[in-house]
Amino acid sequence: MSVQVVASKMAEVELKDIGGKDIPAVAPLIPKVEEKPVVKCEPVVSPTTPVISNVAAAVDPTLPTPSPNLMKMPQASAMKRTDPQHNGGEAFISPDGTVTEAPRTVKKQIQFADQKQEFNKRPTKIGRRSLSRSISQSSTDSYSSAASYTDSSDDETSPRDKQQKNSKGSSDFCIKNIKQADFGRREIEIAEQEMPALMALRKRAQGEKPLAGAKIVGCTHITAQTAVLMETLAALGAQCRWAACNIYSTQNEVAAALAEGGFAVFAWKGESEDDFWWCIDRCVNVEGWQPNMILDDGGDLTHWIYKKYPNMFKKIKGIVEESVTGVHRLYQLSKAGKLCVPAMNVNDSVTKQKFDNLYCCRESILDGLKRTTDVMFGGKQVVVCGYGEVGKGCCAALKAMGSIVYVTEIDPICALQACMDGFRLVKLNEVIRQVDIVITCTGNKNVVVREYLDRMKNGCIVCNMGHSNTEIDVASLRTPELTWERVRSQVDHVIWPDGKRIVLLAEGRLLNLSCSTVPTFVLSITATTQALALIELYNAPEGRYKQDVYLLPKKMDEYVASLHLPTFDAHLTELTDEQAKYLGLNKNGPFKPNYYRY
Ligand code: NAD
Repeated sequence: MSVQVVASKMAEVELKDIGGKDIPAVAPLIPKVEEKPVVKCEPVVSPTTPVISNVAAAVDPTLPTPSPNLMKMPQASAMKRTDPQHNGGEAFISPDGTVTEAPRTVKKQIQFADQKQEFNKRPTKIGRRSLSRSISQSSTDSYSSAASYTDSSDDETSPRDKQQKNSKGSSDFCIKNIKQADFGRREIEIAEQEMPALMALRKRAQGEKPLAGAKIVGCTHITAQTAVLMETLAALGAQCRWAACNIYSTQNEVAAALAEGGFAVFAWKGESEDDFWWCIDRCVNVEGWQPNMILDDGGDLTHWIYKKYPNMFKKIKGIVEESVTGVHRLYQLSKAGKLCVPAMNVNDSVTKQKFDNLYCCRESILDGLKRTTDVMFGGKQVVVCGYGEVGKGCCAALKAMGSIVYVTEIDPICALQACMDGFRLVKLNEVIRQVDIVITCTGNKNVVVREYLDRMKNGCIVCNMGHSNTEIDVASLRTPELTWERVRSQVDHVIWPDGKRIVLLAEGRLLNLSCSTVPTFVLSITATTQALALIELYNAPEGRYKQDVYLLPKKMDEYVASLHLPTFDAHLTELTDEQAKYLGLNKNGPFKPNYYRY
Protein backbone atom coordinates (compact mmCIF):
# COMPACT_ATOMS: atom_id res chain seq x y z
CA MET A 1 0.00 0.00 0.00
CA SER A 2 1.22 3.48 -0.65
CA VAL A 3 0.08 6.71 0.82
CA GLN A 4 -0.12 9.99 -0.98
CA VAL A 5 0.76 12.96 1.09
CA VAL A 6 -0.44 15.67 -1.20
CA ALA A 7 -2.19 16.10 -4.43
CA SER A 8 -0.79 17.15 -7.71
CA LYS A 9 2.67 15.83 -8.13
CA MET A 10 2.05 13.47 -5.30
CA ALA A 11 0.94 10.90 -7.77
CA GLU A 12 4.62 10.78 -8.62
CA VAL A 13 5.65 11.45 -5.07
CA GLU A 14 4.00 8.51 -3.48
CA LEU A 15 5.27 7.92 -0.02
CA LYS A 16 5.70 4.34 0.87
CA ASP A 17 3.77 3.09 3.78
CA ILE A 18 6.34 1.43 5.96
CA GLY A 19 3.82 -0.72 7.76
CA GLY A 20 3.69 -1.52 11.44
CA LYS A 21 2.60 0.64 14.31
CA ASP A 22 3.44 3.99 12.79
CA ILE A 23 0.67 3.75 10.30
CA PRO A 24 -2.39 5.63 11.45
CA ALA A 25 -5.45 3.58 12.11
CA VAL A 26 -6.94 5.79 9.43
CA ALA A 27 -4.47 4.90 6.71
CA PRO A 28 -7.23 4.78 4.09
CA LEU A 29 -7.49 8.53 4.53
CA ILE A 30 -5.38 9.51 1.59
CA PRO A 31 -5.21 13.22 1.00
CA LYS A 32 -5.71 13.21 -2.70
CA VAL A 33 -6.65 16.67 -3.82
CA GLU A 34 -8.45 17.32 -7.06
CA GLU A 35 -6.58 19.26 -9.70
CA LYS A 36 -8.24 22.53 -8.94
CA PRO A 37 -7.36 25.49 -6.76
CA VAL A 38 -8.23 25.17 -3.15
CA VAL A 39 -10.52 27.44 -1.28
CA LYS A 40 -9.36 30.96 -1.15
CA CYS A 41 -9.93 32.72 2.12
CA GLU A 42 -11.30 36.12 1.28
CA PRO A 43 -9.54 38.80 3.25
CA VAL A 44 -12.06 41.54 3.26
CA VAL A 45 -15.64 40.87 4.02
CA SER A 46 -18.34 43.37 4.49
CA PRO A 47 -20.77 42.56 7.26
CA THR A 48 -23.44 42.35 4.61
CA THR A 49 -21.70 39.67 2.56
CA PRO A 50 -24.10 36.75 2.33
CA VAL A 51 -22.56 34.03 4.40
CA ILE A 52 -24.12 31.11 2.67
CA SER A 53 -25.27 31.78 -0.81
CA ASN A 54 -26.32 28.22 -1.37
CA VAL A 55 -28.34 27.41 1.68
CA ALA A 56 -29.75 24.27 0.15
CA ALA A 57 -26.30 22.85 -0.23
CA ALA A 58 -25.58 23.74 3.34
CA VAL A 59 -28.45 21.76 4.71
CA ASP A 60 -28.38 18.91 2.25
CA PRO A 61 -24.93 17.52 1.69
CA THR A 62 -26.13 15.27 -1.08
CA LEU A 63 -26.54 18.34 -3.24
CA PRO A 64 -23.72 19.27 -5.60
CA THR A 65 -20.50 20.89 -4.50
CA PRO A 66 -20.96 24.41 -3.18
CA SER A 67 -20.92 27.16 -5.73
CA PRO A 68 -17.83 29.33 -6.12
CA ASN A 69 -19.57 32.01 -4.10
CA LEU A 70 -20.03 29.63 -1.30
CA MET A 71 -16.41 28.65 -1.52
CA LYS A 72 -15.59 32.26 -0.81
CA MET A 73 -17.44 32.12 2.44
CA PRO A 74 -15.65 34.20 5.01
CA GLN A 75 -14.27 32.81 8.18
CA ALA A 76 -14.53 34.67 11.43
CA SER A 77 -10.80 35.12 11.39
CA ALA A 78 -10.89 36.68 7.96
CA MET A 79 -13.46 39.14 9.16
CA LYS A 80 -11.38 39.94 12.17
CA ARG A 81 -8.52 40.99 10.00
CA THR A 82 -10.53 43.81 8.57
CA ASP A 83 -10.59 45.34 12.01
CA PRO A 84 -7.70 47.76 12.10
CA GLN A 85 -7.40 47.30 15.82
CA HIS A 86 -6.84 43.64 15.60
CA ASN A 87 -3.34 43.27 14.40
CA GLY A 88 -1.57 46.41 15.15
CA GLY A 89 -2.45 48.32 12.04
CA GLU A 90 -1.97 47.76 8.37
CA ALA A 91 1.21 47.56 6.37
CA PHE A 92 1.27 47.70 2.61
CA ILE A 93 4.51 46.47 1.17
CA SER A 94 5.27 46.91 -2.47
CA PRO A 95 7.88 44.91 -4.35
CA ASP A 96 10.06 47.97 -4.50
CA GLY A 97 10.08 47.86 -0.75
CA THR A 98 7.89 50.82 0.02
CA VAL A 99 6.13 50.27 3.29
CA THR A 100 3.01 52.28 3.87
CA GLU A 101 1.61 51.81 7.30
CA ALA A 102 -1.85 52.86 8.33
CA PRO A 103 -2.12 54.52 11.75
CA ARG A 104 -1.60 51.89 14.35
CA THR A 105 -3.67 51.42 17.39
CA VAL A 106 -1.24 48.89 18.70
CA LYS A 107 2.36 49.78 19.17
CA LYS A 108 4.64 47.64 17.07
CA GLN A 109 7.81 47.36 18.96
CA ILE A 110 10.18 45.98 16.38
CA GLN A 111 10.17 48.14 13.36
CA PHE A 112 11.37 47.25 9.94
CA ALA A 113 15.06 47.85 9.65
CA ASP A 114 14.58 50.52 7.06
CA GLN A 115 12.50 52.47 9.54
CA LYS A 116 15.13 52.24 12.22
CA GLN A 117 18.64 51.60 11.09
CA GLU A 118 20.55 49.45 8.68
CA PHE A 119 22.13 46.47 10.31
CA ASN A 120 25.44 47.07 8.60
CA LYS A 121 25.81 50.25 10.56
CA ARG A 122 26.51 48.11 13.54
CA PRO A 123 25.80 49.65 16.91
CA THR A 124 28.15 49.34 19.82
CA LYS A 125 27.74 46.50 22.25
CA ILE A 126 25.86 48.78 24.64
CA GLY A 127 23.72 50.04 21.80
CA ARG A 128 22.86 46.51 20.83
CA ARG A 129 21.88 45.68 24.37
CA SER A 130 19.49 48.55 24.67
CA LEU A 131 17.89 47.64 21.38
CA SER A 132 17.29 44.17 22.66
CA ARG A 133 14.59 45.51 24.96
CA SER A 134 12.21 45.50 22.04
CA ILE A 135 10.30 42.46 21.00
CA SER A 136 8.59 41.63 17.78
CA GLN A 137 4.91 41.94 18.34
CA SER A 138 4.28 40.03 15.20
CA SER A 139 5.90 37.07 16.75
CA THR A 140 3.55 36.82 19.65
CA ASP A 141 0.63 35.19 17.97
CA SER A 142 2.30 31.91 17.46
CA TYR A 143 3.71 29.73 20.05
CA SER A 144 7.01 28.77 21.32
CA SER A 145 8.50 27.35 24.36
CA ALA A 146 9.98 30.54 25.65
CA ALA A 147 12.14 28.58 28.02
CA SER A 148 15.76 27.99 27.36
CA TYR A 149 17.27 25.66 29.85
CA THR A 150 20.86 26.62 29.49
CA ASP A 151 22.08 29.75 31.12
CA SER A 152 24.61 31.45 28.96
CA SER A 153 24.32 34.79 30.68
CA ASP A 154 27.95 34.51 31.74
CA ASP A 155 29.00 34.72 28.11
CA GLU A 156 28.56 38.33 27.13
CA THR A 157 30.22 38.10 23.71
CA SER A 158 27.83 38.68 20.87
CA PRO A 159 27.58 35.63 18.61
CA ARG A 160 28.35 37.99 15.75
CA ASP A 161 31.78 38.54 17.24
CA LYS A 162 32.53 34.85 17.64
CA GLN A 163 34.25 32.45 15.26
CA GLN A 164 32.57 29.09 15.62
CA LYS A 165 32.70 25.85 13.64
CA ASN A 166 30.75 22.66 13.97
CA SER A 167 32.50 19.31 14.18
CA LYS A 168 32.45 19.01 10.39
CA GLY A 169 34.23 22.30 10.00
CA SER A 170 31.27 24.34 8.78
CA SER A 171 30.88 27.90 10.01
CA ASP A 172 27.72 28.73 8.06
CA PHE A 173 25.70 29.61 11.16
CA CYS A 174 25.61 32.18 13.94
CA ILE A 175 24.41 31.01 17.32
CA LYS A 176 25.26 31.53 20.96
CA ASN A 177 27.47 28.53 21.65
CA ILE A 178 28.06 25.45 19.51
CA LYS A 179 29.25 23.58 22.60
CA GLN A 180 25.65 23.33 23.78
CA ALA A 181 24.77 21.06 20.87
CA ASP A 182 24.56 17.81 22.84
CA PHE A 183 22.19 19.33 25.32
CA GLY A 184 20.06 20.73 22.51
CA ARG A 185 19.95 17.34 20.84
CA ARG A 186 18.35 15.89 23.96
CA GLU A 187 15.73 18.65 23.89
CA ILE A 188 14.96 17.80 20.28
CA GLU A 189 14.66 14.11 21.10
CA ILE A 190 12.18 14.86 23.85
CA ALA A 191 10.11 16.98 21.44
CA GLU A 192 10.17 14.22 18.83
CA GLN A 193 8.25 11.97 21.19
CA GLU A 194 5.33 14.40 21.17
CA MET A 195 5.41 15.13 17.44
CA PRO A 196 4.21 11.83 15.99
CA ALA A 197 2.94 13.15 12.68
CA LEU A 198 6.23 14.71 11.66
CA MET A 199 8.04 11.54 12.65
CA ALA A 200 5.56 9.51 10.60
CA LEU A 201 6.04 11.81 7.61
CA ARG A 202 9.77 11.29 7.87
CA LYS A 203 9.47 7.53 7.85
CA ARG A 204 6.97 7.52 5.03
CA ALA A 205 9.23 9.75 2.99
CA GLN A 206 12.18 7.39 3.20
CA GLY A 207 13.29 6.98 -0.39
CA GLU A 208 10.70 9.46 -1.62
CA LYS A 209 11.67 13.08 -1.31
CA PRO A 210 8.68 15.34 -1.94
CA LEU A 211 10.83 18.35 -1.11
CA ALA A 212 13.86 17.35 -3.18
CA GLY A 213 15.30 20.54 -4.62
CA ALA A 214 13.36 22.75 -2.23
CA LYS A 215 15.44 25.52 -0.72
CA ILE A 216 13.46 26.75 2.23
CA VAL A 217 14.27 29.89 4.09
CA GLY A 218 12.49 29.99 7.43
CA CYS A 219 11.80 32.55 10.10
CA THR A 220 10.02 31.05 13.08
CA HIS A 221 10.61 30.52 16.78
CA ILE A 222 13.72 28.39 17.07
CA THR A 223 12.75 25.82 19.62
CA ALA A 224 12.98 22.07 19.96
CA GLN A 225 9.65 21.74 18.17
CA THR A 226 10.83 23.83 15.24
CA ALA A 227 13.97 21.73 15.11
CA VAL A 228 11.83 18.63 14.66
CA LEU A 229 10.05 20.39 11.81
CA MET A 230 13.30 21.50 10.17
CA GLU A 231 14.83 18.05 10.41
CA THR A 232 11.67 16.61 8.91
CA LEU A 233 11.84 19.04 6.00
CA ALA A 234 15.46 18.02 5.48
CA ALA A 235 14.47 14.35 5.58
CA LEU A 236 11.93 15.10 2.87
CA GLY A 237 14.69 16.50 0.69
CA ALA A 238 14.77 20.22 1.48
CA GLN A 239 17.72 22.45 2.22
CA CYS A 240 16.97 24.93 4.98
CA ARG A 241 18.34 28.21 6.23
CA TRP A 242 16.69 29.63 9.32
CA ALA A 243 16.39 32.75 11.47
CA ALA A 244 14.29 33.46 14.54
CA CYS A 245 11.03 35.38 14.32
CA ASN A 246 11.29 36.50 17.91
CA ILE A 247 14.30 37.95 19.66
CA TYR A 248 13.63 36.15 22.94
CA SER A 249 12.24 32.75 22.04
CA THR A 250 15.32 30.98 20.67
CA GLN A 251 16.48 27.99 22.68
CA ASN A 252 20.22 28.46 22.35
CA GLU A 253 21.05 24.82 22.88
CA VAL A 254 18.59 23.79 20.18
CA ALA A 255 20.10 26.29 17.75
CA ALA A 256 23.46 24.75 18.60
CA ALA A 257 22.20 21.23 17.88
CA LEU A 258 20.83 22.37 14.54
CA ALA A 259 24.09 24.07 13.62
CA GLU A 260 26.00 20.96 14.63
CA GLY A 261 23.66 18.97 12.39
CA GLY A 262 24.59 21.14 9.42
CA PHE A 263 21.70 23.62 9.38
CA ALA A 264 22.47 27.22 8.58
CA VAL A 265 20.88 28.76 11.67
CA PHE A 266 21.21 32.40 12.58
CA ALA A 267 19.58 33.03 15.93
CA TRP A 268 20.16 33.40 19.65
CA LYS A 269 18.11 34.36 22.66
CA GLY A 270 18.26 38.08 23.34
CA GLU A 271 19.08 39.37 19.89
CA SER A 272 18.99 43.11 19.41
CA GLU A 273 16.75 44.50 16.72
CA ASP A 274 19.81 45.03 14.58
CA ASP A 275 20.84 41.40 15.12
CA PHE A 276 17.33 40.31 14.21
CA TRP A 277 17.51 41.77 10.72
CA TRP A 278 21.14 40.78 10.32
CA CYS A 279 20.23 37.15 11.00
CA ILE A 280 17.41 37.24 8.47
CA ASP A 281 19.74 38.74 5.91
CA ARG A 282 22.37 36.07 6.52
CA CYS A 283 19.73 33.47 5.69
CA VAL A 284 18.84 34.91 2.32
CA ASN A 285 21.88 36.85 1.19
CA VAL A 286 24.25 34.00 0.51
CA GLU A 287 26.37 33.28 -2.51
CA GLY A 288 25.40 30.28 -4.58
CA TRP A 289 22.13 29.66 -2.78
CA GLN A 290 18.74 31.15 -3.43
CA PRO A 291 15.53 30.19 -1.65
CA ASN A 292 12.57 28.85 -3.60
CA MET A 293 10.19 28.53 -0.64
CA ILE A 294 9.49 30.75 2.38
CA LEU A 295 8.21 29.58 5.74
CA ASP A 296 7.39 32.66 7.76
CA ASP A 297 5.87 33.46 11.12
CA GLY A 298 4.94 37.10 11.37
CA GLY A 299 5.85 38.25 7.86
CA ASP A 300 9.21 39.82 8.68
CA LEU A 301 11.19 37.49 6.44
CA THR A 302 8.75 37.97 3.58
CA HIS A 303 8.99 41.71 4.06
CA TRP A 304 12.77 41.60 4.05
CA ILE A 305 12.91 39.75 0.75
CA TYR A 306 10.35 42.12 -0.79
CA LYS A 307 12.34 45.02 0.45
CA LYS A 308 15.90 43.97 -0.27
CA TYR A 309 15.80 41.21 -2.84
CA PRO A 310 12.57 41.50 -4.86
CA ASN A 311 14.16 39.60 -7.75
CA MET A 312 14.32 36.52 -5.59
CA PHE A 313 10.58 36.15 -6.03
CA LYS A 314 11.20 35.07 -9.60
CA LYS A 315 12.41 31.75 -8.23
CA ILE A 316 10.20 31.50 -5.17
CA LYS A 317 7.33 29.06 -5.59
CA GLY A 318 5.37 30.06 -2.53
CA ILE A 319 5.09 31.40 0.97
CA VAL A 320 3.70 29.53 3.95
CA GLU A 321 2.68 31.87 6.75
CA GLU A 322 1.61 30.83 10.21
CA SER A 323 0.69 33.92 12.17
CA VAL A 324 -2.35 36.17 12.28
CA THR A 325 -0.17 39.18 11.64
CA GLY A 326 1.77 37.69 8.74
CA VAL A 327 -1.41 36.47 7.10
CA HIS A 328 -2.90 39.91 7.51
CA ARG A 329 0.06 41.40 5.68
CA LEU A 330 -0.22 38.86 2.89
CA TYR A 331 -3.87 39.67 2.35
CA GLN A 332 -3.00 43.31 2.14
CA LEU A 333 -0.36 42.60 -0.48
CA SER A 334 -2.85 40.49 -2.35
CA LYS A 335 -5.52 43.17 -2.12
CA ALA A 336 -3.08 45.72 -3.48
CA GLY A 337 -2.20 43.34 -6.33
CA LYS A 338 1.37 43.17 -5.09
CA LEU A 339 1.63 39.59 -3.99
CA CYS A 340 3.83 38.00 -6.60
CA VAL A 341 3.75 34.34 -5.52
CA PRO A 342 1.07 32.05 -4.07
CA ALA A 343 0.83 32.00 -0.29
CA MET A 344 -0.66 29.48 2.07
CA ASN A 345 -2.47 30.78 5.14
CA VAL A 346 -1.77 28.20 7.81
CA ASN A 347 -3.15 30.39 10.57
CA ASP A 348 -6.70 29.80 9.46
CA SER A 349 -6.37 26.09 8.89
CA VAL A 350 -8.78 24.23 11.11
CA THR A 351 -5.87 22.20 12.38
CA LYS A 352 -4.22 25.37 13.60
CA GLN A 353 -7.03 27.53 14.84
CA LYS A 354 -9.20 24.92 16.45
CA PHE A 355 -6.29 23.23 18.17
CA ASP A 356 -3.59 25.76 18.84
CA ASN A 357 -5.88 28.48 20.11
CA LEU A 358 -8.22 26.27 22.10
CA TYR A 359 -6.17 23.38 23.44
CA CYS A 360 -2.93 25.24 23.80
CA CYS A 361 -4.61 27.84 25.99
CA ARG A 362 -6.65 25.26 27.88
CA GLU A 363 -3.40 23.69 29.01
CA SER A 364 -1.14 26.67 29.38
CA ILE A 365 -3.37 29.13 31.22
CA LEU A 366 -3.07 27.12 34.42
CA ASP A 367 0.66 26.63 33.90
CA GLY A 368 1.26 30.35 33.40
CA LEU A 369 -0.78 31.34 36.45
CA LYS A 370 0.70 28.67 38.67
CA ARG A 371 4.33 29.34 37.79
CA THR A 372 3.98 33.03 38.45
CA THR A 373 1.70 33.13 41.48
CA ASP A 374 1.32 29.62 43.00
CA VAL A 375 -2.38 30.42 43.17
CA MET A 376 -4.87 27.71 44.05
CA PHE A 377 -7.71 27.67 41.56
CA GLY A 378 -10.42 25.82 43.49
CA GLY A 379 -13.18 28.19 44.62
CA LYS A 380 -11.50 31.25 43.14
CA GLN A 381 -13.68 33.70 41.25
CA VAL A 382 -12.32 34.34 37.77
CA VAL A 383 -13.58 36.57 35.00
CA VAL A 384 -12.53 35.70 31.45
CA CYS A 385 -13.01 38.47 28.88
CA GLY A 386 -13.82 37.04 25.46
CA TYR A 387 -15.30 33.63 24.72
CA GLY A 388 -13.60 32.83 21.42
CA GLU A 389 -11.26 29.85 21.04
CA VAL A 390 -8.77 31.15 23.59
CA GLY A 391 -11.44 32.17 26.08
CA LYS A 392 -13.16 28.81 25.76
CA GLY A 393 -9.90 27.04 26.51
CA CYS A 394 -9.19 29.19 29.56
CA CYS A 395 -12.72 28.82 30.92
CA ALA A 396 -12.74 25.05 30.50
CA ALA A 397 -9.45 24.66 32.36
CA LEU A 398 -10.43 26.92 35.22
CA LYS A 399 -13.86 25.35 35.58
CA ALA A 400 -12.27 21.91 35.75
CA MET A 401 -10.09 23.14 38.61
CA GLY A 402 -13.13 24.24 40.59
CA SER A 403 -12.98 27.95 39.90
CA ILE A 404 -16.15 30.01 39.66
CA VAL A 405 -15.91 31.44 36.16
CA TYR A 406 -17.62 34.54 34.77
CA VAL A 407 -17.44 35.50 31.11
CA THR A 408 -17.75 38.83 29.33
CA GLU A 409 -18.57 38.97 25.63
CA ILE A 410 -19.69 41.47 23.02
CA ASP A 411 -20.92 38.89 20.52
CA PRO A 412 -24.31 37.37 21.35
CA ILE A 413 -23.40 34.08 19.70
CA CYS A 414 -20.28 33.54 21.77
CA ALA A 415 -22.19 34.89 24.76
CA LEU A 416 -24.89 32.29 24.27
CA GLN A 417 -22.25 29.59 23.96
CA ALA A 418 -20.80 30.72 27.28
CA CYS A 419 -24.21 30.57 28.93
CA MET A 420 -24.94 27.13 27.56
CA ASP A 421 -21.53 25.92 28.68
CA GLY A 422 -22.57 26.91 32.18
CA PHE A 423 -20.77 30.20 32.66
CA ARG A 424 -22.33 33.36 34.02
CA LEU A 425 -22.28 36.09 31.40
CA VAL A 426 -21.66 39.43 33.04
CA LYS A 427 -20.40 42.90 32.35
CA LEU A 428 -16.98 43.47 33.75
CA ASN A 429 -18.15 46.21 36.11
CA GLU A 430 -20.63 43.83 37.74
CA VAL A 431 -17.94 41.49 39.06
CA ILE A 432 -14.76 43.50 39.05
CA ARG A 433 -14.85 44.15 42.82
CA GLN A 434 -15.21 40.50 43.76
CA VAL A 435 -13.04 38.49 41.38
CA ASP A 436 -9.67 37.00 42.29
CA ILE A 437 -8.36 36.67 38.72
CA VAL A 438 -9.02 38.68 35.55
CA ILE A 439 -7.98 37.18 32.18
CA THR A 440 -8.33 38.94 28.84
CA CYS A 441 -8.61 36.92 25.60
CA THR A 442 -10.34 39.24 23.18
CA GLY A 443 -7.70 40.38 20.69
CA ASN A 444 -9.14 43.82 21.40
CA LYS A 445 -7.78 46.86 23.20
CA ASN A 446 -8.57 48.60 26.48
CA VAL A 447 -10.76 45.83 27.80
CA VAL A 448 -9.47 46.31 31.33
CA VAL A 449 -9.05 50.03 31.88
CA ARG A 450 -7.81 52.00 34.87
CA GLU A 451 -11.31 52.42 36.27
CA TYR A 452 -11.58 48.64 36.64
CA LEU A 453 -8.06 48.30 37.95
CA ASP A 454 -8.90 50.88 40.64
CA ARG A 455 -11.91 48.86 41.74
CA MET A 456 -10.26 45.44 41.92
CA LYS A 457 -9.84 43.89 45.31
CA ASN A 458 -6.54 43.51 47.07
CA GLY A 459 -4.48 40.69 45.60
CA CYS A 460 -6.43 40.39 42.37
CA ILE A 461 -4.33 38.73 39.63
CA VAL A 462 -4.54 40.41 36.22
CA CYS A 463 -3.25 38.84 33.03
CA ASN A 464 -3.72 38.65 29.28
CA MET A 465 -3.86 35.69 26.88
CA GLY A 466 -4.58 37.73 23.75
CA HIS A 467 -2.17 38.67 21.00
CA SER A 468 -1.16 42.15 21.99
CA ASN A 469 -0.38 43.89 25.23
CA THR A 470 -3.11 46.46 24.84
CA GLU A 471 -6.02 44.51 26.29
CA ILE A 472 -5.09 45.66 29.77
CA ASP A 473 -4.37 49.37 29.96
CA VAL A 474 -1.01 48.88 31.63
CA ALA A 475 0.14 52.36 30.66
CA SER A 476 -2.55 53.81 32.91
CA LEU A 477 -0.85 52.16 35.88
CA ARG A 478 2.37 54.02 35.33
CA THR A 479 1.38 57.04 37.38
CA PRO A 480 3.24 58.59 40.32
CA GLU A 481 0.73 57.60 43.01
CA LEU A 482 1.13 53.90 42.24
CA THR A 483 4.15 51.91 43.30
CA TRP A 484 5.46 49.03 41.19
CA GLU A 485 7.27 46.21 42.91
CA ARG A 486 8.88 43.43 40.86
CA VAL A 487 8.35 40.35 43.00
CA ARG A 488 9.38 37.63 40.56
CA SER A 489 10.40 37.46 36.97
CA GLN A 490 7.36 38.66 34.98
CA VAL A 491 5.37 39.38 38.16
CA ASP A 492 4.71 42.92 39.38
CA HIS A 493 2.76 44.12 42.36
CA VAL A 494 1.15 47.44 41.62
CA ILE A 495 0.38 49.13 44.92
CA TRP A 496 -2.23 51.85 45.53
CA PRO A 497 -1.70 54.56 48.18
CA ASP A 498 -4.08 52.78 50.59
CA GLY A 499 -1.97 49.62 50.42
CA LYS A 500 -4.16 47.70 47.99
CA ARG A 501 -2.11 45.78 45.47
CA ILE A 502 -2.87 43.93 42.28
CA VAL A 503 -0.68 41.23 40.78
CA LEU A 504 0.11 42.05 37.17
CA LEU A 505 1.59 39.26 35.09
CA ALA A 506 4.02 39.73 32.19
CA GLU A 507 3.15 43.45 32.10
CA GLY A 508 0.01 42.54 30.20
CA ARG A 509 1.74 40.49 27.50
CA LEU A 510 0.65 37.01 26.50
CA LEU A 511 0.82 35.07 29.74
CA ASN A 512 1.53 31.62 28.38
CA LEU A 513 4.20 32.73 25.94
CA SER A 514 5.87 34.94 28.49
CA CYS A 515 5.67 32.81 31.60
CA SER A 516 5.24 29.17 30.71
CA THR A 517 5.77 26.68 27.93
CA VAL A 518 3.14 25.38 25.56
CA PRO A 519 2.36 21.75 24.78
CA THR A 520 4.51 20.16 22.11
CA PHE A 521 1.70 17.99 20.80
CA VAL A 522 -0.30 21.05 19.79
CA LEU A 523 2.72 22.47 18.04
CA SER A 524 3.07 19.17 16.25
CA ILE A 525 -0.31 19.69 14.64
CA THR A 526 0.62 23.17 13.46
CA ALA A 527 4.07 22.06 12.29
CA THR A 528 2.62 19.19 10.29
CA THR A 529 0.21 21.59 8.65
CA GLN A 530 3.17 23.79 7.75
CA ALA A 531 5.10 20.86 6.30
CA LEU A 532 2.16 19.78 4.16
CA ALA A 533 1.56 23.33 3.00
CA LEU A 534 5.18 23.52 1.86
CA ILE A 535 4.92 20.19 0.06
CA GLU A 536 1.68 21.21 -1.61
CA LEU A 537 2.94 24.59 -2.82
CA TYR A 538 6.26 23.17 -3.91
CA ASN A 539 4.72 20.33 -5.92
CA ALA A 540 1.62 22.06 -7.24
CA PRO A 541 1.38 22.04 -11.01
CA GLU A 542 1.65 25.33 -12.82
CA GLY A 543 -1.58 27.26 -12.56
CA ARG A 544 -3.10 25.54 -9.56
CA TYR A 545 -2.20 28.46 -7.33
CA LYS A 546 -2.16 32.01 -8.49
CA GLN A 547 -0.63 35.02 -6.81
CA ASP A 548 -3.05 34.93 -3.96
CA VAL A 549 -3.58 33.64 -0.44
CA TYR A 550 -5.01 30.16 -0.01
CA LEU A 551 -6.11 27.84 2.70
CA LEU A 552 -4.71 24.35 2.77
CA PRO A 553 -7.16 21.95 1.14
CA LYS A 554 -9.48 20.47 3.71
CA LYS A 555 -8.36 17.01 2.84
CA MET A 556 -4.90 17.86 4.05
CA ASP A 557 -6.29 19.28 7.27
CA GLU A 558 -8.00 15.95 7.71
CA TYR A 559 -4.76 14.18 6.94
CA VAL A 560 -2.90 16.20 9.58
CA ALA A 561 -5.53 15.19 12.11
CA SER A 562 -5.38 11.55 11.03
CA LEU A 563 -1.63 11.45 11.57
CA HIS A 564 -2.15 12.44 15.20
CA LEU A 565 -4.84 9.91 16.00
CA PRO A 566 -2.62 6.86 16.60
CA THR A 567 -1.15 8.63 19.64
CA PHE A 568 -4.50 8.14 21.30
CA ASP A 569 -5.00 4.63 19.96
CA ALA A 570 -8.06 6.15 18.33
CA HIS A 571 -10.05 4.00 15.94
CA LEU A 572 -11.78 5.97 13.24
CA THR A 573 -14.97 4.63 11.73
CA GLU A 574 -14.96 4.18 7.97
CA LEU A 575 -17.97 5.02 5.85
CA THR A 576 -19.63 2.11 4.14
CA ASP A 577 -20.21 2.49 0.41
CA GLU A 578 -23.88 2.87 1.12
CA GLN A 579 -23.31 5.57 3.74
CA ALA A 580 -20.87 7.45 1.53
CA LYS A 581 -23.43 7.45 -1.25
CA TYR A 582 -26.15 8.57 1.12
CA LEU A 583 -24.07 11.51 2.36
CA GLY A 584 -22.67 12.31 -1.06
CA LEU A 585 -19.12 11.93 0.21
CA ASN A 586 -16.00 10.30 -1.02
CA LYS A 587 -15.10 7.55 1.43
CA ASN A 588 -11.64 9.06 1.77
CA GLY A 589 -12.82 12.57 2.44
CA PRO A 590 -13.04 15.46 2.54
CA PHE A 591 -15.79 14.86 5.05
CA LYS A 592 -17.02 18.39 5.54
CA PRO A 593 -17.81 21.32 3.28
CA ASN A 594 -15.52 24.31 3.51
CA TYR A 595 -18.03 26.32 5.47
CA TYR A 596 -18.27 23.75 8.23
CA ARG A 597 -17.25 25.33 11.53
CA TYR A 598 -16.24 22.36 13.69
P1 NAD B 1 -11.71 34.95 18.73
O1 NAD B 1 -11.98 36.01 17.78
O2 NAD B 1 -12.19 33.57 18.48
O3 NAD B 1 -12.24 35.37 20.20
C1 NAD B 1 -12.15 36.66 20.75
C2 NAD B 1 -13.50 36.95 21.40
O4 NAD B 1 -13.42 38.16 22.14
C3 NAD B 1 -14.60 37.13 20.37
O5 NAD B 1 -15.65 36.22 20.62
C4 NAD B 1 -15.05 38.57 20.56
O6 NAD B 1 -16.43 38.73 20.35
C5 NAD B 1 -14.66 38.84 21.99
N1 NAD B 1 -14.45 40.26 22.31
C6 NAD B 1 -13.93 41.24 21.54
N2 NAD B 1 -13.90 42.40 22.23
C7 NAD B 1 -14.40 42.14 23.44
C8 NAD B 1 -14.62 42.93 24.60
N3 NAD B 1 -14.33 44.23 24.64
N4 NAD B 1 -15.15 42.34 25.70
C9 NAD B 1 -15.46 41.04 25.69
N5 NAD B 1 -15.29 40.23 24.62
C10 NAD B 1 -14.75 40.79 23.51
O7 NAD B 1 -10.12 34.90 18.91
P2 NAD B 1 -9.26 33.79 19.65
O8 NAD B 1 -8.81 32.75 18.70
O9 NAD B 1 -9.98 33.37 20.90
O10 NAD B 1 -7.98 34.66 20.02
C11 NAD B 1 -8.09 35.71 20.94
C12 NAD B 1 -6.74 36.40 21.07
O11 NAD B 1 -5.79 35.45 21.58
C13 NAD B 1 -6.17 36.89 19.77
O12 NAD B 1 -5.49 38.07 20.02
C14 NAD B 1 -5.21 35.79 19.35
O13 NAD B 1 -4.19 36.27 18.52
C15 NAD B 1 -4.67 35.36 20.68
N6 NAD B 1 -4.18 33.99 20.75
C16 NAD B 1 -3.47 33.68 21.85
C17 NAD B 1 -3.00 32.40 22.03
C18 NAD B 1 -2.16 32.06 23.21
O14 NAD B 1 -1.52 31.01 23.24
N7 NAD B 1 -2.15 32.87 24.24
C19 NAD B 1 -3.31 31.41 21.09
C20 NAD B 1 -4.08 31.75 19.99
C21 NAD B 1 -4.52 33.05 19.83
